Amino acid sequence: MPKMNIKKGDKVQVLSGKDKGAQGEVLRAMPAEGKVVVEGVAMVKRHTKPTQANQQGGIVEREAAIDVSNVMLICPACGKATRVGHAVNADGKKFRVCKKCGEQF
Ligand SMILES: [Zn+2]
Repeated sequence: MPKMNIKKGDKVQVLSGKDKGAQGEVLRAMPAEGKVVVEGVAMVKRHTKPTQANQQGGIVEREAAIDVSNVMLICPACGKATRVGHAVNADGKKFRVCKKCGEQF
């Protein structure tokens, strides 16, 4: 299984599929499955039954989880979709390094 470089709250760009090129925030990261849910990406329609809050029921759109290999992190410093490296500082804290601009985050 590929290592997850992506965390909740990251901005990512979609690399393949019908939402190729789309950018959005990671709403959920699922390291065990190697999947992420990205805001506004891979929308699927779900039929819902009527509830007290929504008496009509109907169709809601929700983001489906997509494979993390289909997204690339957008560097918060340079704003480019980038591969990330890993580094550990003197205190043992792990962080990621942008391969484009070298920024650590
Ligand atoms: Zn960068």
